[in-house]
Order: sequence, then structure tokens, then C-alpha cells
Amino acid sequence: MLALLAATLLVLVARPSLRGPADAAVIALLLTALFMAAESSQIHIEIGHQAWSVSLSELPFVLGLFLLPPWWLLLGRLVGAGVVFLLRRTAVATATFNLGLFAAEVAVAELLFQSLHPGAGLHPGDWLIAYLAMLLVAVLGAVAAPVAIALRQGRLTMSVFARVLPVVGLAGILNTTLALLSLLVLQVNRAALLLLAVLVAVVAVGYHAYQRLQRQHADLGRLFAFTQSVGAPETNDGVRSRLLAEAADLMQAEHAVFLPWADTDHQQLPVGAVVIPRGTRDPQLRAWLTRSGLRDALLVPLHDGGHTVGVLQVGNRIGAMSSFTQEDLRLLQTLTAHAEALRSNLRLLELRRHEAHHDSLTGLPNRALFLLRVDELLAAGPDHVPGSADRGAVMLFDIDRFREVNDTLGHQVGDLLLRQIGLRLQAAIPDDAIVARLGGDEFAVLLRRDVEAVTAMAMASDLASSLAEPLEVSGVLLDVAASVGVALIPEDGRGAAEVLQHADIAMYAAKRTTVKVARYDSDEDQSSVSRLALAGELRRAITTQLVAYFQPQMDLRTGTVVSFEALVRWEHPSRGLLLPDDFIPIAERVGLIGPLTSDVLGQALRACRAWLPEHPGVGVAVNLSARGLLDPTLTATVTHLLTETGVDPDLLTLEITETNVMADFAAALIALDDLRAVGLRLSVDDFGTGYSSLAYLTRLPVQEVKIDRSFVTAMKTSPDVAAIVRATISMCHTLRLTVVAEGVEDTNSLAVLTEMGCDTAQGYLLSRPLSPQSLAAWQRPLPYPLTPQPGWATRLRRPS
Ligand code: C2E
Ligand code: CA
Ligand code: CA
Repeated sequence: MLALLAATLLVLVARPSLRGPADAAVIALLLTALFMAAESSQIHIEIGHQAWSVSLSELPFVLGLFLLPPWWLLLGRLVGAGVVFLLRRTAVATATFNLGLFAAEVAVAELLFQSLHPGAGLHPGDWLIAYLAMLLVAVLGAVAAPVAIALRQGRLTMSVFARVLPVVGLAGILNTTLALLSLLVLQVNRAALLLLAVLVAVVAVGYHAYQRLQRQHADLGRLFAFTQSVGAPETNDGVRSRLLAEAADLMQAEHAVFLPWADTDHQQLPVGAVVIPRGTRDPQLRAWLTRSGLRDALLVPLHDGGHTVGVLQVGNRIGAMSSFTQEDLRLLQTLTAHAEALRSNLRLLELRRHEAHHDSLTGLPNRALFLLRVDELLAAGPDHVPGSADRGAVMLFDIDRFREVNDTLGHQVGDLLLRQIGLRLQAAIPDDAIVARLGGDEFAVLLRRDVEAVTAMAMASDLASSLAEPLEVSGVLLDVAASVGVALIPEDGRGAAEVLQHADIAMYAAKRTTVKVARYDSDEDQSSVSRLALAGELRRAITTQLVAYFQPQMDLRTGTVVSFEALVRWEHPSRGLLLPDDFIPIAERVGLIGPLTSDVLGQALRACRAWLPEHPGVGVAVNLSARGLLDPTLTATVTHLLTETGVDPDLLTLEITETNVMADFAAALIALDDLRAVGLRLSVDDFGTGYSSLAYLTRLPVQEVKIDRSFVTAMKTSPDVAAIVRATISMCHTLRLTVVAEGVEDTNSLAVLTEMGCDTAQGYLLSRPLSPQSLAAWQRPLPYPLTPQPGWATRLRRPS
């Protein structure tokens, strides 16, 4: 259409003839060269995803208007541009459009020029005509190009049009001015054209420098925008897709894709980052372009953790006239490097996030994540309505006597065991549950389904029994048992912390049951609340409300009371008589066990001092807890109290449990040696309940062993247990240790123990722990038949 317009107009303006002034051919040749130079040194300005070319072409154009007949000018214009297009391998459609446009431009300019007849004198009026002609040409180009693009792309944006015009217009004015100056110079002194050429060259260089600067500026801006937009934490895939989008945008490319290394025929690919410009002369690269169906491309390798994982391929520069350059490649590399840095930052962040939410030993979710999940479940529905179903359950697992594994087999074995336990639980839970390690030997399972209390309890019990199968750790089979506390969601708590706390309370209750599984019970909670209150009151209670009760121990050969065990009670003004289990653990936790022990020791020794005149040789036993034993001031306190009361150290027995000793064997050994040096006796309490080993008994400076109540009770029904008790007594005797049987409640047991050779017995059969007042009333020596007869033991009891 443009060509048709050009031809029509030109025929109107001038008959088709190439005859002109004698030197027309020479001038045409020169102008053709100038057109070529202008076309090949054009600069591209990117506006709205399109590259707009601005060239010096108005310069030869205006010269031609003044110096050449129309057809000569047309020829020069078309040949000049055509040669450049050919050399550039410009796409046929683009070249055709441009040539048509150029022809139309020549025609329109000539029409104006011819109709206004400028004189040969180059007066200011003639200048105006030249400017007008070029303005017309600029408008034509600015209209035709967007229309052509719109025809191909189906949309026309006027804003682009508005932004293009000023740029093209400005260049036109500059070029026209230069042309007019050239013409004026030609009239005066042809040699001065050289000066103009220098000027033009400088302007051309200036153009390019400006373009480069502008381009870099814009690229920097987009690079900055990219870093800003993906600076916020995103997923790694997010970064990659952003990179692709940004790369295409920044490089003005039709597309950008990620070619995974595995899928790429990377044998064929050029190594490293390369730019393959349009019309590259390298035959291999050209073959690659053809195979890939691309005009031009940029290739940048993508790395991930030091390995090349693929190639970022940016293809087909938008805009017919330009192609990718080394500068584009550098920019793309910068962009890629930035994206890679972002990715590795994100990976670090993810790692950190994972670490913050997972336990490093087992890899399981940790307390923080578990609480989060519980809260999610709590938030997933309404508060609990009595009678309605629950949405889930928390089961808190505490491994029984885990500390002993750590202490006896070492922390490494302990760690391995915890890992195995984690795996066991993980394998045993259903799909809609998660397992977490809350810390230490505490694991928790969150069941996320509608569940009834009984079902949850049954599941908890099943999970606990999944742990019952021995676990192999470093070639050793270890038996594990767990106590489980169950709390329902949302019935048993308003927040995650509360649910977990309630499961914890249930877990402690479970420890006291035989089935080892318990559901949260708010009555239990009351006692736990009161326990907290007790902690506050305990400090004042020591020396005022704590009272040592005394339980007699009878020599089984003589039938006489040889000692009393001091058992502490708290005569609480409002709660009544509290037993040691209610407050000893609290005293340990709040650091009051030291004062408590001294208090009981003092009471015990003073009581002993008081009964000694009437019962010479009857000693007293005092219990020591784990922390009590390791109290560095203990030996000093004991020595002080012994001197103060004047009780023979030999009459004082300190009872320690195996677990207390095993908690820190080395330190306990030192403490025990110190105590032993004072001259008192040492006794192992609750023997048989820990990881009992007779072997370690030989290493402790003890004189007595107390067989745990549970054996004495079980002995009555189990011949096996009776055999164990008998063996223990005989082995202890081999080690020259005195044996005390605890918890003797019936005459039969007493008879059997006597027959087994047990030295001493203690239990309700003889007496319950006596308050100091009852003790004072109990003065006379006891009768002692040596051979137990039916009913004899009742006579042992003090008259009530
Ligand atoms: P223990 O050292 O094993 O004390 C024996 C416990 O068994 C006492 O419970 C006693 O009342 C109970 N008992 C005695 N004979 C029988 C019986 O025939 N049948 C049954 N079923 N039980 C019997 P108690 O007084 O409640 O003390 C519990 C634990 O508290 C003690 O266990 C001891 O470990 C600890 N304890 C008591 N007084 C003190 C103390 O002053 N300091 C420390 N650190 N711990 C103490
Ligand atoms: Ca004891
Ligand atoms: Ca005991």
C-alpha cells in the first residue's frame, strides 16, 4: 500500500525519468552511501516493547530533495537501505515494510517540496519547507509503523504513538538542520563539508553514547526492580519463574526458558555463557539456531549448589532491527547471578525455618511446630460444646526411666534410642497424625480426626505398645516403656499450650497407673494447681510444719527394734497431713531439698538422742534425694548435727536410691565416700526398681540394702520373685551387706523372710510411721518370739 502510494504520488510530481543534471548520478551514489551509513548507524530506542529506530537518514534525504530529481532520490534511498537490510539479513516482512515506507516518505516529501517550489538560494523560507517536509515524513513514519505493528499484533496503543513522535521529531529537526547547513556550506566552500562531516560523526558518536547510557540506565532500573520484587521471601520455584519472566522482559526477547541440563543436548550447546546474534557467521551456532527455531539467542548456564543444573535460554530479540549483544549477555549474567544468590539465600532460609521447627536429633517436628499444628486444629472449628465430638487428640509420651539408659549406657546410646523411638512412633501413627519430639524423652502425637475419648485412649495404648517390642541400639536390645497422657481437642484446652500442659498432667497421672495411659482430668489439674501453691508455701513450712514420723525396723533374729526410719510429713494448716510424694518433688525442683533434708536430719537425730537412754543402740535412718546427696554442704551439716546431738555416727543410716546414685555416679561416689568418712552407715533404698546391678553395689561404700516393697508384695504370689528375693539376700550377705525388707504387711511374709535369712523387716505389720507423740508413748521393749507362730506378729503391734 505504501509503495502504491509512493508510486502514484511520484508520478503526479514528476514523470518517471532518471535523467537529471549531469552530476546527478554521482550525487545519487554519494547519497546512497550516506543512506547506507545512516541506516547502519541507526540507534534503537525501546518504547513499549518495540525498538524504534532513529537514524541520520534525514540528512541525505534533505540533501537529495535539494540536489536530486525525485526518482534519483527514491533510488538512492531504497538502494542504500536495501543493501543494509541484505547485509543484516533483516526479515523479509520488515524489510519490505521499511522499503515501502521509505518510498512513501520520499514521495510525500517530494510532493510538498515540488508544490512549494523552494528557490535555489536556500533562503530561510526554503529552510522552512525542508523542515515541513521532514516533519511530514516523521509523521508518516510515526503513523505507519504503529499501524503496521497493530496489523500484525492486533492492537494499537496510542500511548506508544505519543511517546515515539517527540523522539523521532527531535532527531528529524537535528538532521534537517545538519542537511541545510551542509547545503549552505556546499555553496560557499565544498572543502568545508569535511568540517561538517566531523560534526556529523561527533553527533553520531554522541547518539550512540547517549543510547548506551540510556539503555544501561533502564537496565539498571529493571535489575533493581527485579531484586526488589523478589527480595521478599518466596519459594525457590517462584524465584526461577520470576527470573524467566524478568529475563524475557529485560532482554526484550520473545521468550525465556529454562532448559534442565538432563533434557538438553548439551553436547551440542556452546559452553558457558554465549550470545548468538542474529545472522551469526559461526556455522555451528547457525545450525543450532535453526534446530531450535530461533533467530538469535542468549545462553547462560544456571547453577545450583555449585553444579550446573541447566541453561537459561533467552530467544528472539523483539524488534526487527536489533539483536542480542555482549552487553545484553553481561546484564543477563548479572540477573542470573542475582537470582542464584537469591535462591541459595532462600534455601538457607528454608533450612533455618526447618531447623527452627524440627528436632535435629530425630528430624521430627519440635515443640514449636507441634504447638503450631495444635493451634491450627483448635482454630479449625468452634469451641467445645459438651456432648459434641472432638476434632483431635494430643498424646504425650514420656519414656519411663530413660535417664537411666543415658546414665548407664551413655548419651550416645541414649540418642540412638531416642531416634529409634521416633522412627517407631512415626511408623505406628496413622496418616492423619503427626509425631513430634518435644524435648528430652518426651514425644507427642497429634491426631487430626474426629475422635471419642475411648478411641483416643485405645490408640494411645496401641502406640505405647508399639514401643514395647525391644529396640535394637548398637547391637543391644533395649526394653522401652512409655507413659501416655491424652488430652482432647478442643475439649481439654483453649490454646495449644494449655492442651499440651493438660496432656502433661495426664501423663504424670498415667505414670501412677498400671495401664500407663490416662486422659486429662480436671480434678487432677486441681491438685496440680495446688501443687504450685504448695511450692510457694514450702519455704515457710520448713522448720515449722514439717514433721518427721518414725517407722520401726525389726531385727528378724532378735525380734527387737533396731532402728527407725524417719519419714517426713507436712502438717499443713489447711490441707491436713501431706505425704512426701506430694512435696518432695517440689522441694527438689524449687531448690528447697537441702534445707528440708537438714530439717529432717535434725529432727531424726534429736529424736534418736531422746530414745537412746531407754533403747540404747537403736539408730535412725534418713532418706536422701538425688539433689540432697549431691548438696556440697551435706557432709558439714551431718557432722554438725551429729556433734550437736551427740549421737554416735554409727547409729545414723542415710538411705539413697540406686537411681539417685546412677544419675551422676562419679559425683555420688565422692559424696558417699565423704559421708562414710564421718562414720555413718549408708543404705541402698528401693533396691530392685532401677537398672539394678549387684556388680555396682560392690563399688559403693554401702552397708545395707533395702529390698523394694514391690518384691516383698509380689513374693507372696510369685515363686519366681521369691527366688529372686532369696538370691538377693544371699548375694548381699556375700558382699557383707545387711538386708532390710520393706513393706512387710503380713505374718506369712515375715516368716518367709526370716527363713530366707533376711536381717531386718519394716512395714505396716510392725507399725505404720509414728508421729513424735505416738513414738514417745511407745517406750517399752517389744517381745520377740524367735520362731514365728500363728498370731505372734499381732502381739508385736503396739496397743492401739
Ligand atoms: P521409702 O524410703 O521407700 O519409704 C517407705 C515408704 O513406704 C513410706 O512412704 C512408708 O510409709 C511406706 N510403707 C512403709 N511400710 C509399708 C507397708 O507395709 N506397706 C506399704 N504399702 N507401704 C509402706 P512415705 O512415708 O509416703 O514415703 C514415701 C517416700 O518419700 C519414701 O519412700 C522416701 O523415698 C521419700 N521420703 C520420705 N521422707 C523423706 C525425707 O525426709 N527426705 C527425702 N529425701 N525423701 C523422703
Ligand atoms: Ca527409705
Ligand atoms: Ca524404700
